[in-house]
Amino acid sequence: MANIQTRLAAVRARLAEAESRFGRVPGSVRLLAVSKTRPASELREALAAGQTRFGESYLQEALEKLHALRDETAEWHFIGPLQSNKTKDVAAHFDWVHSLDRIKLAERLNAQRPAGCAPLQVCLQVNISGEASKSGAAPSAIRELALRVAELPRLQLRGLMAVPRPETEFERQRAPLRELRLLAAKLKAEGLPLDTLSMGMSDDLEAAVAEGSTLVRIGTAIFGARPERGGN
Ligand SMILES: *Cc1c(COP(=O)(O)O)cnc(C)c1O
Repeated sequence: MANIQTRLAAVRARLAEAESRFGRVPGSVRLLAVSKTRPASELREALAAGQTRFGESYLQEALEKLHALRDETAEWHFIGPLQSNKTKDVAAHFDWVHSLDRIKLAERLNAQRPAGCAPLQVCLQVNISGEASKSGAAPSAIRELALRVAELPRLQLRGLMAVPRPETEFERQRAPLRELRLLAAKLKAEGLPLDTLSMGMSDDLEAAVAEGSTLVRIGTAIFGARPERGGN
């Protein structure tokens, strides 16, 4: 089986190829390595291969890894389901949150972000049509949420995120991603300074790049298949 360095190189090549094919600026789509369930040793391998952005979903497991890797220069993104009992640790230890979907959680993150840290970078998770996960705000609720989050001084609203239902056919993958792009475009037209579309996973990376993703969240293609896991 290929090692992490080899698989990372293959993902970077896929990304560059997709940027070229769909007329995107080379290097304009950032790569987030989704390292949930993977041990710190594997993240070290990725770090050694130049990968510095990591996405984690399960808070307790993530905090252990952040601690183990505290001397490394890395950017930590929380992409898992967010609840009130997690906001304090997320605000204290992460650089980004992709899964914000309620104003109450935004207000808690804002209040709990430590004074010495830069503002927490946030994407609003949208439950676009067909989304498998129960997480995410309805598209109709996003405008109001975005306007309120934009007012919170300890949060910096960066964009939108979605986890569409898995599809194998390219055009079917594109449809919900296009919806997310159009929703973000509407908010931008109202003056909200969004610069991030967090979309695209191992199986729909190309479709996401085609629809304007600026950050793809890739787990399986870098680290291999994950063990089944329940809880957070
Ligand atoms: C697990 C996960 C990913 C990575 O999915 P892969 O198919 O393994 O690339 C991306 N985004 C979110 C929100 C996830 O939970």
